[in-house]
Amino acid sequence: MAVLICGGAGYVGSHNVRAFVQHGEKVIVADSLETGHRASVPEDVKFYKVDIRDSQALDKVFAENDIESVVHFCAYSLVGESMELPLKYFNNNVGGMISLLEVMHKHSVKRIIFSSTAATYGEPKRVPILETDPTIPTNPYGESKRIMEKMMNWVSRIHDIRYVSLRYFNVAGAWSDGTIGEDHKVETHLIPLILQVPLGKREHITIYGDDYPTKDGTCIRDYIHVEDLARAHLLALGYLRNGGESNIFNLGSGDGYSVMEMINAARTVTGHPIPAVIGTRRPGDPARLVADSTKAQEILHWKPEIVKMEDIIATAWKWHSSHPHGYGD
Ligand code: UDP
Repeated sequence: MAVLICGGAGYVGSHNVRAFVQHGEKVIVADSLETGHRASVPEDVKFYKVDIRDSQALDKVFAENDIESVVHFCAYSLVGESMELPLKYFNNNVGGMISLLEVMHKHSVKRIIFSSTAATYGEPKRVPILETDPTIPTNPYGESKRIMEKMMNWVSRIHDIRYVSLRYFNVAGAWSDGTIGEDHKVETHLIPLILQVPLGKREHITIYGDDYPTKDGTCIRDYIHVEDLARAHLLALGYLRNGGESNIFNLGSGDGYSVMEMINAARTVTGHPIPAVIGTRRPGDPARLVADSTKAQEILHWKPEIVKMEDIIATAWKWHSSHPHGYGD
C-alpha cells in the first residue's frame, strides 16, 4: 500500500516526500515538473512525470500501484499571475482536482490530504483567523483553492472520499540539512528575496509599504516552517486513517512578524547588512494575516516546533547559500 504524493517535486511537496519517507511510508510521486524539480525527490522514490489533468496517464499510476491515500500539492500558486491569467489557474488547479477525484473514485481510494491556503479567506474581518470565518478570496488563486475544497466536500458526501484541507499561512524555511529548499523560476516570496541580497543577486530588498496600521508600519504575516507543515500532513493522514471525518485546519504559528522584523532576523542570521528600501504597497496585501491554529492543535495534536524566526531563516539560508542556483535545472 502506498501514498501518492501529487506535486511531490515542488517546494512544499518535496519536503513532505522526505517527511513521509522518513516516517516509513511507501511513497509514489506524480509531478508534471512544470514548476517542480526532479532532483528534489530522492532517486529511490517511484516517480511519474504526469500532469494530473491527463486522466489516462493518472489512471495508469493508480492501476500500476496499490494506492491507499493521496496527498495533493499540484497547483499554480502565484497570486499576481492569477490576477492576469485567471483561466490558467482555474484550468490547472480546478481541472487537476476534477481529474484526480475522478480517478480516485474509479479506483476506490478514499482519503485525500489537500494543500490549501490562507488566501481562501481574502481580507480577514478579524485576526487571528478561524476556520469558520468567511471565505471571500480576493484573487483567482485563492478562489481556485476554495473551489477545490468545495468540490472535495461534495465528493466526500456523495462518494465517501474523506478529505483534510490544510490552509497554510506563510510557509518558510528548508529541510534542516540544507539539501532541499525553495527554488521558484519566478521568486515572489519575502524570505528567498531577502536572502538574494547576501547572495549578491540583488542590491537591496524592497519593503512593500511602511504605512500599514501595524507596529512598525510593515505587513504582518504568520510564518510556519516547512518541516512543521510536513508533520501536519502526516498527522492529518493518521487522523483520516483512524476514521476522522472530513475537516479543514489552519496551519500557522499564531504569531505575527512584520516584514521589518523578518529583514532584521535575516541580518542576524547572515551577518550581512541587507539594505532595505521602502517601496509602494503591493496591491491586495492585507495588513495582518495570523492563523488561529487551535483546531489543528486540539484535533491533530499538531504544534509547530521551529518557531523562532532566526531558526526558520537559518534553514533557508543553509539551503540558499549552498545552492545559489537552486537545483540548477
Ligand atoms: N514583501 C515585501 N517585499 C518583497 C516581497 C514580499 O515587502 O520583496 C512582503 C509582502 O508585502 C507581504 C510579506 O512580505 O506582506 C510576505 O509576502 P510573501 O509574498 O512572501 O507572502 P504572502 O503573504 O503574499 O503570501
